[in-house]
Amino acid sequence: MPDNNNDSAKKRTYDVIVIGSGASGGWAAKEFCDKGMKTLILERGREVRHVKDYPTASRPPWDFPHRGTVPLEQRKDYQGARFMREETLQWAIRDDEQPFIQEKPFRWVRGYHMGGKSLLWARQTQRWSNYDFEGPARDGFAVDWPIRYEDLEPWYSYVEKFAGIAGNKDGLPELPDSEVMPGFEMSCIEQYFKESLKKNFKDRHLIQARCAHITDPQPIHQQQGRSKCQNQTMCNRGCVFGGYFSSNASTLPWAINTGNLTIRPHSVVHSVIYDEKKGKATGVRIVDAGTKEMMEFYASVIFVNASTINSNAILLNSVSSRFPAGLGNDNGLLGKFVSWHNYRGKGSAQYEGFKDKTTDGRNPSNAYIPRFRNLFRQDTDFLRGYAIGIGGGRGSGSDTHMIGDQLRENLLHPQLGNWFISSWMMGECVPLEKNHVRLHKDLKDKYGIPQLIISCEWADNDEKMVKDYIEQSKAMFEAAGFTSIKIDDTKSPPGSDIHEMGGVRMGHDPKTSLLNKWNQLHLCKNVFVTDGACMTSTSCQNPTLTYMALTARSAHHAMEELKKGNI
Ligand SMILES: Cc1cc2nc3c(=O)[nH]c(=O)nc-3n(C[C@H](O)[C@H](O)[C@H](O)COP(=O)(O)OP(=O)(O)OC[C@H]3O[C@@H](n4cnc5c(N)ncnc54)[C@H](O)[C@@H]3O)c2cc1C
Repeated sequence: MPDNNNDSAKKRTYDVIVIGSGASGGWAAKEFCDKGMKTLILERGREVRHVKDYPTASRPPWDFPHRGTVPLEQRKDYQGARFMREETLQWAIRDDEQPFIQEKPFRWVRGYHMGGKSLLWARQTQRWSNYDFEGPARDGFAVDWPIRYEDLEPWYSYVEKFAGIAGNKDGLPELPDSEVMPGFEMSCIEQYFKESLKKNFKDRHLIQARCAHITDPQPIHQQQGRSKCQNQTMCNRGCVFGGYFSSNASTLPWAINTGNLTIRPHSVVHSVIYDEKKGKATGVRIVDAGTKEMMEFYASVIFVNASTINSNAILLNSVSSRFPAGLGNDNGLLGKFVSWHNYRGKGSAQYEGFKDKTTDGRNPSNAYIPRFRNLFRQDTDFLRGYAIGIGGGRGSGSDTHMIGDQLRENLLHPQLGNWFISSWMMGECVPLEKNHVRLHKDLKDKYGIPQLIISCEWADNDEKMVKDYIEQSKAMFEAAGFTSIKIDDTKSPPGSDIHEMGGVRMGHDPKTSLLNKWNQLHLCKNVFVTDGACMTSTSCQNPTLTYMALTARSAHHAMEELKKGNI
């Protein structure tokens, strides 16, 4: 508890604490700082400032000692990591940073640095519709969402205008239109496939996916110091143009410029402090990653944005005599109904035509078939459905089976191959109670924080959905006259989609949910969870835009409640 007469505690007291500086935490900080609230971000990773801290951003391939490949000697410390290229190794997490127990195989991709995974994402930003928010109630799973599309619509617009979204207005009820700047052009093979779908499958549409790239900078983007996407497709190194949305390029510098933001990197949040007498949270405990010292910071409002699984872990570790099973966890549901997306299906095919055409430039986005299964009515033997990502292009290659002049000639003049098309499944998973995360009773990490056990597995519904994706993709490719069709179930483990959600779900009733319709813990009203942990169901659309819209909405609600003295 802060002692107001204690100078040291005063120095550690803010209006708001935000845990995590990623896609959702950045939005919380921006909204509070804009309204004059003194805000502290506690971030476990190192500082990453826009441009200055993107060491590989503009380096050509020959500048990397191993031409991009990470040597085996270095790899052994990163067995579970992604981003294993020399260009992006700075974002990979060493295995000893946060060991966790996979009760069943689970791929947990993390980004532990300022900006979190917002620097690393694929920037796909499809809105959710009422077919998503009404899903649990209609199909009888999880619990009813306490909000509908109409609650979020103005916040989608708000977030999209600031972030900058490229795409088209497609007028599809299942994928409400966004505030868009011109979309990236489809290649001729994608255009051709679009026409084929129109002719052969009346319920399916191929559109350009909406993505968080600036194609026509507006004054609001110029004020952020960001400019037009240069189509370099080197996004995951960090973009010096600010062409795509990341917290580092957008919300964090904006919040810093208000003079109201303090960011404390290397601060691994241990738990939220609950004051029994006041009946609310008073602050956050951290372990300093350098000194391993435990410290406390205080605030009137706490936003938990450490990314889904970490937000669950922090709340489970926030025990007190009032909440022995974790903060707000009287119903025992904290950590349960964790879910994710089903990206197991992958496909490819070739097309013999368009030999006179080639592509010019690069496309940082892709095409997209919105969900068409079980949309307006239940029409298969599984619940919910999937969207399909589509990419198409024309490859080139050189025959390198020789040496000397001929080899050089071949390399200098690569031959164009066939046009190809690739497809990937993006399926909705139905949250189940047995899929959960919990804390290990004895094992701790190097910060003295209990290790996490992740226990998640595919269900029969997911198996049926993969089978349907394979059959339907084959049918769509065949109808288009594609050849060399290959469509497989990669059997990748849960988590491979990097869209983990749930565990602290929203709902109407404190008996069956943890958060109310404003993302406040039902039982501790000044703690808000607005990252993926709050999600009641998963839709099949990419989720981050929805986390960002929910975060901005909740931050404004928190400020109103503070003004009224309700929290
Ligand atoms: C390769 C890739 C592609 C993706 N593509 C898409 C896409 O196209 N569309 C989409 O919608 N989503 C995509 N995602 C997912 C998207 O990146 C995440 O959904 C999004 O970043 C989540 O935002 P967040 O704020 O919850 O978490 P993050 O952005 O991960 O930020 C969490 C922050 O919290 C910090 N933190 C964690 N634990 C603690 C702790 N104990 N104490 C203090 N700080 C802590 C982390 O260091 C991090 O900075 C992709 C992700 C990856 C990696």
